[in-house]
Amino acid sequence: MGLAYDPQVIQEFGMYDDKKMQDFINEYGKKMGAISHRSKVEYQFRVLDSPVVNAFAVPGGYVYFTRGIMAHFNNEAEFAGVLGHEIGHIAARHSAQQQSQQILAQIGFIGAMLASEKFRQYSDLAETGLGLMFLKFSRNHESQSDKLGVEYSTKIGYDAHQMAGFFNTIKRIQDGSGSNIPTFLSTHPDPGDRFNRVNELATKEQAKASSPKDLQVNRDRYLRMIDGLVYGEDPQQGYVEKDIFYHPQLKFQFPTPKSWQTVNSSSQVQIAPQDGKAAIIFTLSGEKTLAQAKQAAISADSLKVLESKNISVNGNDGIALTADLNPQVRLLMYLIQFNGNIYKFTGLAETPNFNGYESTFANCFKGFKSLTDQSKINVFADKIKIVTVAKDGTLSDVLKANNQDSKRYEEIATLNGMQLNDKLKKGTLIKTLAKGDGKK
Ligand SMILES: [Zn+2]
Repeated sequence: MGLAYDPQVIQEFGMYDDKKMQDFINEYGKKMGAISHRSKVEYQFRVLDSPVVNAFAVPGGYVYFTRGIMAHFNNEAEFAGVLGHEIGHIAARHSAQQQSQQILAQIGFIGAMLASEKFRQYSDLAETGLGLMFLKFSRNHESQSDKLGVEYSTKIGYDAHQMAGFFNTIKRIQDGSGSNIPTFLSTHPDPGDRFNRVNELATKEQAKASSPKDLQVNRDRYLRMIDGLVYGEDPQQGYVEKDIFYHPQLKFQFPTPKSWQTVNSSSQVQIAPQDGKAAIIFTLSGEKTLAQAKQAAISADSLKVLESKNISVNGNDGIALTADLNPQVRLLMYLIQFNGNIYKFTGLAETPNFNGYESTFANCFKGFKSLTDQSKINVFADKIKIVTVAKDGTLSDVLKANNQDSKRYEEIATLNGMQLNDKLKKGTLIKTLAKGDGKK
């Protein structure tokens, strides 16, 4: 399963471009795989370029960490605990299931919120990689994996009490996020319960360890490794501002329908109204010419074409198609040639409602054009910047001294696994946020 899906996961999220971090998780991952209950599995470890706070395992030996979760660990021992948990799912041969439609809709799966199953299928097609990130294990399996995480991380020399501490960070992200459920939480049991249980397990496991005093935490070494890590959404891969979608790297923009929700991933942009009665899917066609792209789109979904015409969209050649996906669902498709690529917009609605959405779709597609506004192009993700505390004081004092945005103090405290009134000694390393400049 892992072997087959790994390319899809990588296509969906992209690998995070940092060799020392990829090497780091590989080194510790292989070391832990070797002492696990299935040491012969060829484990593979990857850091994905996603801001979501999550780690997940795909049966077959693939373990993924997002850059979002890497940003939230505060030492190697926390990382090792979660690593052990994920390897545990593989070592114990846990079988995963897809999340319920309701949970998927809550965590921003447009496909899951679509009202019609008939066109939900269409938007789910490209979501396989995304879906793997949200696989669900049973509560029993999660508990067993926590136990294995404690055991394995202790065996490779880390203090597993730190793993318990990481559940506090998870809980704070959960409490601070409002309606959006962070994924590591929606896919895992209550972090409060786990804190107590993992602490107990760690105490027991350490009593068995040969030299418990030597168990490592390695805070400073971990923090130095993540210095410069991209943090939060990366606008270079596309963002929405005032109902306009901008893609700084590919240099295009288009308007999105007012109050529709947009979900952007590496492979597609999905846009839908709250009631889920229509959807726009925007992707890159893999084809070289408009004619080929049209043919590929028709045969991929056995479309029944009602109308096809050549068009020009803000100076770019294109084809507009109206077609039936099946007897219940009609779509408007625009294929647009731009900068050597062919982009594909698909607007879907149930056939009786189609006329009501047609102009909304067309207004979006016809607004596709080249992005030249430098102020929309030069927008970069924040980065983690590790600084040394210059003099004793509270975390608040230190953030102020480092010119951090006061509206983000709580968020930065969570990132550090600290409270704002925690007292820090001169010389301590902490995480701050720095404006990104697009350089690694
Ligand atoms: Zn798990």
